[in-house]
Amino acid sequence: MSDLLTVRNLVKEFPLGKGFWGRQKSVVHAVDDVSFSIGENETLGLVGESGCGKSTTGFSILRLIEPTSGEVWFQNENLLALDPNQLRQRRRHMQIVFQDPFGALNPRQTVERIIEEPILNYENISAAERLDRVADALETVGLSPEHMTRFPHEFSGGQRQRVCVARALVLRPKLIIGDEPVSALDVSVRAQVLNLMVRLQRKLNLSYLFISHDLAVIRYVSHRVGVMYLGQIVEMADVKTLYGNPLHPYTWALLSAVPVPDPRRSRKRIILAGDVPSPVNPPSGCRFHPRCTEVMPVCREEMPQMRQMNGGHQVRCHLYSSL
Ligand code: SF4
Repeated sequence: MSDLLTVRNLVKEFPLGKGFWGRQKSVVHAVDDVSFSIGENETLGLVGESGCGKSTTGFSILRLIEPTSGEVWFQNENLLALDPNQLRQRRRHMQIVFQDPFGALNPRQTVERIIEEPILNYENISAAERLDRVADALETVGLSPEHMTRFPHEFSGGQRQRVCVARALVLRPKLIIGDEPVSALDVSVRAQVLNLMVRLQRKLNLSYLFISHDLAVIRYVSHRVGVMYLGQIVEMADVKTLYGNPLHPYTWALLSAVPVPDPRRSRKRIILAGDVPSPVNPPSGCRFHPRCTEVMPVCREEMPQMRQMNGGHQVRCHLYSSL
């Protein structure tokens, strides 16, 4: 599987304004040294508690917010080195589906207008061709061309998210970033939208960066999974390995909270102490150490580096430093 997207040492810091003497007060370390790649037709799931930097990572890749440093290679081109015009051209190959289908659609525009907007921005084709493309996109997501004349409020939440997916697909992108794309939907329609996205991946050769706090959702859609904590990826592995043999204490805690469907099996719940620390002033050493059940003296002093284990499994934890 060749890589479509490679992210190297991505950093995003948000300055918090100046102090009284004009000195920089402090910064929010939202994304800190994040690296991963996504192959063609592959889904990488990014999972972690809210505020861990998952969405900021997604937005930084698209340069919807400007990263502080790092590299983002898409089809062998570093997106961070492109000028605005070049970036605009490349963006047509990378689309995003947001969490909230209610807020993502202009309530005053018809579905036809909403879906044709990206075409108007990027392609010079006739009105009839545009109409065909919009109808095509609607059919691809399981809606009908008759829906074109309707407004967003006339749809259910699941249908609105289908409209958002149709808008993302109409330019035939290579990569879609899903930022919690099903978490605002009723449980009953979540599965429909997830199944749709999985089907579309096979049909259209798409790659996904799928961002969610929901481990069950991530397991269902992903080939590989990265676990994020306080701006860093702390573990990454293929989905079977990560859910079957997690190595990082934070992943243990996350997985221990997922209900087991078999009543004869039980899993000991690991309750994490305290809240996620502030990204303005992250803990020294390992960022997880104040909440870790396995904490050692070295964890308070030294930040663990990402370590390669067997079969592409990576973990950032001192428990494995001497292996
Ligand atoms: Fe826990 Fe130490 Fe590993 Fe951090 S490095 S996860 S504190 S054992």
